[in-house]
Amino acid sequence: MVLADLGRKLNSALSQLNRAPVVDEKVVLDGLLKEITNALLEADVNVKLVATLRKQVKAKVKPALESTDKAKEVQRKNIIHRAIHDELVHLVDPGVEPYKPKKGQPNVIMAVGLQGNGKTTTCTKLAVHYQKRGFKCCIVCADTFRAGAFDQTRQSATKAKVHFYGSYTETDPVAIAAEGVAKFKKERFEVIIVDTSGRHRQESELFEEMKQIQAAVKPDMTILVLDASIGQAAEAQSRAFKESADFGAIIVTKMDGHAKGGGAISAVAATKTPIIFLGVGEHLGDLDRFAPQPFISQLLGMGDIQGLMEHMTDLARQNPDRQKEMTKAFEEGKLSIRDWREQMQNIMSMGPLSKITSKIPGMAGLMEGLAGEGTDEEASTRLKRLICITDSMTPAELDSDGMLFMKLDKDRKPIGLTKRVRRVAKGSGASIREVEEVLMQHRMMANVAKQMGGKNGMLQALKGMG
Ligand code: GDP
Repeated sequence: MVLADLGRKLNSALSQLNRAPVVDEKVVLDGLLKEITNALLEADVNVKLVATLRKQVKAKVKPALESTDKAKEVQRKNIIHRAIHDELVHLVDPGVEPYKPKKGQPNVIMAVGLQGNGKTTTCTKLAVHYQKRGFKCCIVCADTFRAGAFDQTRQSATKAKVHFYGSYTETDPVAIAAEGVAKFKKERFEVIIVDTSGRHRQESELFEEMKQIQAAVKPDMTILVLDASIGQAAEAQSRAFKESADFGAIIVTKMDGHAKGGGAISAVAATKTPIIFLGVGEHLGDLDRFAPQPFISQLLGMGDIQGLMEHMTDLARQNPDRQKEMTKAFEEGKLSIRDWREQMQNIMSMGPLSKITSKIPGMAGLMEGLAGEGTDEEASTRLKRLICITDSMTPAELDSDGMLFMKLDKDRKPIGLTKRVRRVAKGSGASIREVEEVLMQHRMMANVAKQMGGKNGMLQALKGMG
């Protein structure tokens, strides 16, 4: 998860609030708000923004703190929780809606930014993102400044199976951009991404070139690509670019591993420009859609069902049969071990494990269970091993709810394990403990399925999305 450190600190502050027997001004002001303020400052959020957040939270919780009704302790905690959540959302919310590409028409997107910020990589990631959503996508490489820029686009676009346009001989970026966009419009491409030159510094030459390309291709949306590591300096950079190339949205890259990302996000929000995506790694799939509300919910460990639904819908487009089976199991709130295995394989094919599990409420524990403090890769290896264990189960066992492996008392409460566990362990070369872990992981997911299934569950919403 991005900003894991900040998330951990915020969570720890909030759980201290939950544990506090009495919630008074001292607990909130000296404890909770102080910790939250420190955590935000450490993530490089601007001092003024943090001070405003503190003031707003204080004002919102004041009436609740003044009430002396002890019976309302829980309610009081909820009000404080809500105030903090809402003010954090406010901190990263520019209050402006970005442009949304529309099907059946050309949508020209132009990417600008300093060299090395991840512009070229992000252009391909964007193309992949929209391609997965059924748009016909392509990239125009109008970067004639950096040697090898066209080769880089060619390589990554080829890898992503995205059409591209560029030239080894033409030196005028404006001409390339115009030609490329015209060609792709004629060929009825729907998302046409124009990658422009970067520079090491904000130079007048670069800004002039950006303006000319903008005039030539008339983009529906210009995106500024910003590196998260600059933290709150993002505000100055974003303002400088805004003065010359009026852009409609921002993508903050390299959010993976940059503790200062919180500063960048809040600084950008202060310039009233929406962030639409976060770059979270070097791979083509490492692009997270950004929206203030789900981002904060996820940061506070509340999950991001909306984000998960999007992932699942992407997957459904690629394999409708698999989706049908999954939907049925979830709808009924019943998950066999076979379904669990399929789910886990799905989850692994969606991208980094931590990214997916952090979107499911209560599932972040899965990661910890699998890898402890380990890396995504270790968790994947561990999960693969658990999946292999199910290969030693019989069809009846796979289709069961796992109770076949349990000795039950007369109330059908598990009191031990049956011989089947030993057989599966032997067959798969695993330990009894590992087989138990498979069963435990299955039970955890089955519980999530129960929460999501039914008439008002997530799957109904998923169906609604087509
Ligand atoms: P450009 O000069 O702005 O076009 O930047 P590039 O697209 O060539 O990227 C510069 C470097 O940053 C490359 O090594 C990329 O792999 C890397 N990069 C881009 N986006 C991300 C990201 O979100 N996370 C990480 N870790 N690296 C990234």
